[in-house]
Amino acid sequence: MSIPDKADFVIIGAGIHGLSTAYHLATKLKAQGKGDGSKILVIEKDSIAAGATGVACGVVRNNYFQPAMRELMAHSVEVWETDPKAYHYHSVGYMQISPECMEEDVASIYEQQKNIGYESEFIQGKEKSEKYMKSMFSDWQAKGITSVLHEKRGGYANNTSAMYGLADKAGHEGVRLLTGVTVKGFQYGSNSDAVTAVDTDKGSIKCDQVIIGAGPWAQSFWNMLELPKEVSIKSNGAMHENIPMWQYWFLVEGVLNVDPNFLKTEDGNMPPVIHVDTDAPLYSDDDKSLITDKLWGIYYKPDFHFGGIQGGASPYKVGKPGGAGIEVDPYGPSSKNFVIDDNFAHMWTSALAFCHKRFEGKSHLFKKGATGGLGCFTPDSFPVFDQFRENVYMIADSNHGYKMLGVGKLVADEVLGEKSNLLEPFRFSRYEEGKLHPTSNSPFPWS
Ligand SMILES: Cc1cc2nc3c(=O)[nH]c(=O)nc-3n(C[C@H](O)[C@H](O)[C@H](O)COP(=O)(O)OP(=O)(O)OC[C@H]3O[C@@H](n4cnc5c(N)ncnc54)[C@H](O)[C@@H]3O)c2cc1C
Repeated sequence: MSIPDKADFVIIGAGIHGLSTAYHLATKLKAQGKGDGSKILVIEKDSIAAGATGVACGVVRNNYFQPAMRELMAHSVEVWETDPKAYHYHSVGYMQISPECMEEDVASIYEQQKNIGYESEFIQGKEKSEKYMKSMFSDWQAKGITSVLHEKRGGYANNTSAMYGLADKAGHEGVRLLTGVTVKGFQYGSNSDAVTAVDTDKGSIKCDQVIIGAGPWAQSFWNMLELPKEVSIKSNGAMHENIPMWQYWFLVEGVLNVDPNFLKTEDGNMPPVIHVDTDAPLYSDDDKSLITDKLWGIYYKPDFHFGGIQGGASPYKVGKPGGAGIEVDPYGPSSKNFVIDDNFAHMWTSALAFCHKRFEGKSHLFKKGATGGLGCFTPDSFPVFDQFRENVYMIADSNHGYKMLGVGKLVADEVLGEKSNLLEPFRFSRYEEGKLHPTSNSPFPWS
């Protein structure tokens, strides 16, 4: 496809957010009699799902301590459920299995899930939690657990297949997708702040509205748009100045090379996605040495797409706040610095054995290979969904985003002039206004 010199809507990035926005915007334009997908051009420097979307575990859950996140996720789960076949979506449910120090937080999540009609079950107490887990897996043996939140909806999607399904749906609506085209900058109007054209390595494209879903590259677009590198944050009545806008984290994930059927439940079904946090000490399954006696967590699921039991552990910060010196490219498996190492394999396989007897002695089956990936996080580690420079909509999900298929639908509403209550708590102004989201006791930055 040759590069057009104009498009009404230019969407940058063919990951979950760019593609979801493109598809939903096309259907909305049609429904409103305002045209169709041919008004939309998606530009991608590489290929579909070449960024974080293509390396994600694909977990879709509601389990969030922040009310606004929970409501947004419930909306996204509804969108996943609209077309499970095209989205390669497995609605197996999700379990948050927690120690005492997190029980109160998780109890409040359960209460609020009830209030918004999101089906889940909450089991409290050490014995009851153990009994519940053993009824599902007779070899369950995790220690330090006092509650189980079992979400009956959610689950996971096969990461790249889902994106090809989404791209097909957008294509059917007439959306044009240009891969192998890199955005280099923007042109601005003489009388306004608005972007008038997107400059790429193949030429410039005039446009009325830009939408950016750039995942780990969020900071580079933020800089291209000359947005503030530091922010002021109001918290507990005090103003904290000069807080860097971006911080990179490294997300660690891998695969145990067993038949995915290895983790079927006692009744022969595929299990929910399992997330375990505990403060019980974790010892090596290989040599019994202590790995950690601090709060730790893992998640895992059988996945035919990855060909085994796939999952991860807590991510960690890399580089300095502000991200100086971090190289996002080449991304994912090709990265020089940000792929998992033996320490992750050791910890994660030992943690699997901590949870289920069936995983004892299986660490040698950990799949060798470059997995994991960088995430670009905001100052409070929650998304920023907002319009900048009059006509640039930024979807900066702070790495929460594979599960957020519904965000593109809401962004489509917003760029067509219909404000979304679900997106309102994620405006950039929240930092200065002190409208921050509550934080939980989870060891993960996105719970
Ligand atoms: C290891 C890992 C596991 C994860 N697991 C989960 C999970 O289980 N569940 C969950 O909800 N979230 C998960 N996430 C987070 C999730 O993957 C991201 O939040 C989400 O995929 C971001 O989507 P995106 O569309 O914004 O960005 P991306 O998928 O990164 O897409 C951005 C696209 O922009 C393109 N691009 C960049 N620069 C340019 C340019 N200059 N010109 C043109 N194109 C450009 C890139 O090539 C890329 O394809 C995980 C993340 C990682 C790293």
